[in-house]
Amino acid sequence: MAGEPQDDCLFCKIVAGQIPATVVRETETTLAFRDINPQAPTHVLVIPKAHHADAAALAAADPGLAADVLRETRAVAEEEKLDSYRIVFNTGSGAGQTVFHTHAHVLGGRGLQWPPG
Ligand code: 5GP
Repeated sequence: MAGEPQDDCLFCKIVAGQIPATVVRETETTLAFRDINPQAPTHVLVIPKAHHADAAALAAADPGLAADVLRETRAVAEEEKLDSYRIVFNTGSGAGQTVFHTHAHVLGGRGLQWPPG
């Protein structure tokens, strides 16, 4: 069911504390932690604690929670003192999504090219 923890979900396990992560921010509804394979000097993932497979599913099921995630991306950027940064929601395997629990990548600390690959 939408929002319920999934036994086979890596990020649900991080939320539950079953897999360690370097947490940078936590709210009642969200968690922000450093990516294990950073692609920029700052690479933080912001997730809703509730399980939603991707950004589209989250936006449809719980727009308020989607707003919480977006608000936290801003807070991370402020804490990391990023003037310019990129927020990425890879949505679907064809777009590079590998973990099917919604996450915003916050990338910054270096120049970023456009368009992305
Ligand atoms: P996606 O490819 O789905 O958009 O992003 C998934 C991200 O999760 C990748 O950037 C990957 O490096 C990161 N990731 C995968 N496994 C772990 C993990 O166990 N811990 C952390 N902190 N990040 C992970």
